[in-house]
Amino acid sequence: MDYSCKRRGEPMKNERISISDAEWKVMRTLWTNPNITSQQLINLLSLSTNWKAATIKTLLGRLVKKNFVVATKSGSKYTYMTTIKESETIREVGEEFLAHICRKQVGKTIVDWIQRSELSFNDIEEIQQALTEKKADAVEEVMCHCEPGQCHCCKWS
Ligand SMILES: [Zn+2]
Repeated sequence: MDYSCKRRGEPMKNERISISDAEWKVMRTLWTNPNITSQQLINLLSLSTNWKAATIKTLLGRLVKKNFVVATKSGSKYTYMTTIKESETIREVGEEFLAHICRKQVGKTIVDWIQRSELSFNDIEEIQQALTEKKADAVEEVMCHCEPGQCHCCKWS
């Protein structure tokens, strides 16, 4: 097998953050309400889900095990808070998603996200500003980082 390809760049880093849809709900509640007890968490989540207390405790336990949440004893109770910031998590999960697709598809994907998203005038200003600045380090051609056989950018033989 010849894996050489002159258009091939360095692979992106491996995935680090893996959060399920249910765990996202718990994380978002903890980001908004740091240092709450499991009972307070259960009360808050019952506003938007029909999860049982045991389910929420299981999710919490899983997040503690993954080191995304830490439990601190205060008096006779435990309170919970996240170990990672919301903004950093959003960024990492986004990066991770982009790592799954061919780098040559990233531009089109961003255009698609812009087209599908509801944006304020302010958001659009910021995007335009980012694009203007980005032009300074634009490249002629984006390098592919795909694994052999996973895209059509390079001929793998
Ligand atoms: Zn590729």
